[in-house]
Amino acid sequence: MKIAVYGKGGIGKSTTSCNISIALARRGENVLQIGCDPKHDSTFTLTGFLIPTIIDTLQSKDYHYEDIWSEDVIHAGYGGVDCVEAGGPPAGAGCGGYVVGETVKLLKELNAFYEYNIILFDVLGDVVCGGFAAPLNYADYCLIITDNGFDSLFAANRITASIREKARTHPLRLVGLVGNRTSQRDLIKKYVEACPMPVIEVLPLIEDIRISRIKGKTLFEMVGSEPSLNYVCEYYLDIADQILSQPEGIVPKEIPDRELFNLLSDL
Ligand code: ADP
Ligand code: MG
Repeated sequence: MKIAVYGKGGIGKSTTSCNISIALARRGENVLQIGCDPKHDSTFTLTGFLIPTIIDTLQSKDYHYEDIWSEDVIHAGYGGVDCVEAGGPPAGAGCGGYVVGETVKLLKELNAFYEYNIILFDVLGDVVCGGFAAPLNYADYCLIITDNGFDSLFAANRITASIREKARTHPLRLVGLVGNRTSQRDLIKKYVEACPMPVIEVLPLIEDIRISRIKGKTLFEMVGSEPSLNYVCEYYLDIADQILSQPEGIVPKEIPDRELFNLLSDL
């Protein structure tokens, strides 16, 4: 199963992805997480450091795929989750879609792409061109992370449009929205009333999640010394269980920009 996690920059995709990956591994799955954000810190809380990216490794070997070994690019993370960072094109040049394509190509050459029962793509969701939609070519399921604010719901709506478009030619389904870092959900509710899709979880702002980023640990690792954090892990286990139940999911239909502005403003 391939899962793509999308959402606006800074919304909590990598945090959520890392913890869902471990939750899936806890349920017995063999999991690979691929960071597809040029920020290349997707797997930071899994490994505790910034692993070398595929693009950097390819460049250092002059794009000789045959000179690259699995251990050059696949790094073991906490809880048995394997980690890859695609990396980014040079800032202001190149294409994010190309980077994702090269990553999948290399993983196929290494026979790694088909080795895992779950591959999770962590993708930035300020979708401005087809490149950012590239992981949708491989995904069976998509999750969108959002808070209760206009900007992340606007990004969610753009991602929704990309999913609708890709689902015409690929067997891709949206599992639903994951609310993050919010205890309010009035705007999320308004959005899903206008653009029907499941809300599969809403996580509040939790200080220990912010701290986990600084410590370079996932919540599952932190709970070892702080058992009171168990309730946070339960959120991620619940999301993992929903994914593993193979939900039917939906092909969503985005709402026009102007309608979204009206819907989410009080004017
Ligand atoms: P993204 O991958 O979408 O850019 P990150 O996962 O890196 O975002 O998260 C950005 C910051 O927000 C991190 O410092 C992270 O620890 C923090 N964060 C994410 N989710 C929560 C939450 N539910 N409560 C508190 N802080 C959070
Ligand atoms: Mg990230």
